[in-house]
Amino acid sequence: MISLLDNYHQLIASLRKTAGTSHRQTPQLMAVSKAQSIENLDILLSEGHRLFGENRVQEALQKWPLLKEKYPDCKLHLIGPLQTNKVNQAVRLFDVIETLDRPSLAVELANIYHKLQIRRPLLIQVNTGREPQKAGILPEDFESFLQMTRALELPIVGLMCVPPINEEPISHFAYLHSMAKKYELPYLSMGMSYDYKIAIEYETSWVRIGTALFGQR
Ligand SMILES: *Cc1c(COP(=O)(O)O)cnc(C)c1O
Repeated sequence: MISLLDNYHQLIASLRKTAGTSHRQTPQLMAVSKAQSIENLDILLSEGHRLFGENRVQEALQKWPLLKEKYPDCKLHLIGPLQTNKVNQAVRLFDVIETLDRPSLAVELANIYHKLQIRRPLLIQVNTGREPQKAGILPEDFESFLQMTRALELPIVGLMCVPPINEEPISHFAYLHSMAKKYELPYLSMGMSYDYKIAIEYETSWVRIGTALFGQR
């Protein structure tokens, strides 16, 4: 698995270089570990990497409880859809939930936070491309949704998006960046294997990288 570590160090260097060139802060690399073996995760963890993203609660529940015991300072983000009936499990396992995408989920998170006395930081997923098949709050509904989360006292710390696959991502990143500024939300999660350099120009906090790190899934 020499190539995984090669990819890893090249990516870290590339994030730094891109950030330096565009006078931005270097974002944190989130290793998107869906469909990856425990062995691959262990390689990165042994190398000192601590930030991972999973898009399925069920899969994460199979892989992460043991890894988190072994590496207690490891941080795990949920970057895929969260069903209301899995909120309880997700809140226990994930350190950050990036995919708050509908009012019913906001209500359930508030319930579970109260019940468990755990408050994980949340990002609102915005459907910047207004794609009908994609999760996320529509731009025109954003402000009222944010007000709702504030009434529920949810800890909203930022915004996340997945731009349409066949469009240039730049306008989506620019939009999310402007929304975060306007509503004073400190964190942005945007940029994946093929567009992370553009996301860095728009001051992303985390780039979510799968393919460029582990290879094709
Ligand atoms: C899979 C996934 C990624 C990583 O995508 P790559 O193109 O493999 O880097 C990032 N974000 C989300 C939400 C994903 O589901």
